[in-house]
Amino acid sequence: MKLETLTGWRRRLRAREISSRELTELYLGRIARLDAQLNSFITVTDELALAAADAADERLGRGEETPLLGLPVAQKDIFCTEGVRTSCGSRMLDPFVAPYDATVVARMKAAGAVMLGKTNMDEFAMGSSNETSFYGPVCNPWDPDRVPGGSSGGSAAAVAARLVPAATGTDTGGSIRQPAAFCGITGLKPTYGRVSRYGMIAFASSLDQGGPMAATAEDCALMLNAMAGFDPRDSTSVERRAEDFSADLERDLKGLRIGLPREFFGEGLDPEMRAAIETALAVLKDRGAILVDINLPNSGLSVPAYYVVAPAECSSNLARYDGVRFGHRCADPLDLQDLYTRSRAEGFGAEVKRRIMIGTYVLSAGYYDAYYLKAQKVRRLIADDFRRAFTEVDVIAGPTTPELPFRLGEKSADPVKMYLSDIYTIAVNLAGLPGLSMPAGTIGNLPVGLQLIGNYFDEARLLNVAHQFQQDTDWHARMPAAFV
Ligand code: GLN
Repeated sequence: MKLETLTGWRRRLRAREISSRELTELYLGRIARLDAQLNSFITVTDELALAAADAADERLGRGEETPLLGLPVAQKDIFCTEGVRTSCGSRMLDPFVAPYDATVVARMKAAGAVMLGKTNMDEFAMGSSNETSFYGPVCNPWDPDRVPGGSSGGSAAAVAARLVPAATGTDTGGSIRQPAAFCGITGLKPTYGRVSRYGMIAFASSLDQGGPMAATAEDCALMLNAMAGFDPRDSTSVERRAEDFSADLERDLKGLRIGLPREFFGEGLDPEMRAAIETALAVLKDRGAILVDINLPNSGLSVPAYYVVAPAECSSNLARYDGVRFGHRCADPLDLQDLYTRSRAEGFGAEVKRRIMIGTYVLSAGYYDAYYLKAQKVRRLIADDFRRAFTEVDVIAGPTTPELPFRLGEKSADPVKMYLSDIYTIAVNLAGLPGLSMPAGTIGNLPVGLQLIGNYFDEARLLNVAHQFQQDTDWHARMPAAFV
């Protein structure tokens, strides 16, 4: 059977050409047959999925019309799922079964989605390659020797291999967009505050944002319709009128002003990537968009500022894993101190420990002003660059990543090299803006991602531009050969 997009399956479910049970069995079968090659799922919830599919079939039979009714999806294992293990990719939470659903999970359930399972990820979402997961790395479906990106690498690989039509991700410094780019799918990081963080395990709270990952922009819009919305249980959730993110997809691009930051096309960008991005931009130009050169003069400071702010917040957020209340507890503690230190030493991996140590250092009394406060000031400068740019242009475009998916192990020994994978994505989180990555070409057999950055709450515009691009190109429809 032809593997449809989420939107395509939605149509076929409603036309009664397939039942939710059949659809769910089709994808569970693909996971069982093919995921050994990828390791994209940490937990597969077959039984729950089939029960949810049967319930959806009943509702479909009654003519109900909720947005995701009967559609299979996967949740990144950072979202709490009631009664289902929620590991966050860490040994620390390996035994943790969440007692409640994250708001995103609850909203998607209410919209009728059928969860197939929980996807692999970098430990506590810290990483750019999925290699920091306690459950082992994920392979890139386009080349099993290469990384899928991270931290939402399991979701990206699963969607790219069509083990599930759509999945959730989270993005603190690039973790939706970078793996979307590496795996050749579409991923959207919404404006900070658009999607509730309640029940989404915290890494760096002022940067974390959940969002959709799917083959197409149209599918991401459908997902975002279910995911987004005000949540009184998240104090940074923004109260706005509900929006239909699918409504503007067909708008034409005539006169749309697209800013190209010179800083994103300079040294450090692989020349073949640059050529692929320029070819993609020409497609938008043919659709009537106007390409304008712009500057984001402080964007070069984004990686250093992020690696102060994010570890600072992570060191505070991860203080709660003390062996007492959640997850891993060491055996036979001698006393309370021993319980804390050994549980944490055993439960966390190397990258998480590195971040906790950096964070504790930059927040300490003698260094707070020199590092943390300074980074917050740089953060403001970066946000101001964007504010200025958006007085001249409607969206900003450029590469999502400086290079193609790298080989497994290639950067594991050099954290700074790894951190530079997010050089084009991190500024967007520091400013709180929405950003999208879509497949825009290939080099050899490997996908290239084009990033679109929008003004605050302009997700509909980003989805519109991506959807128009996807009318003239077929990169989003291509599948890795081993998974056809
Ligand atoms: N790669 C970045 C980091 O390691 C971003 C991760 C993310 O967005 N969750 O922190």
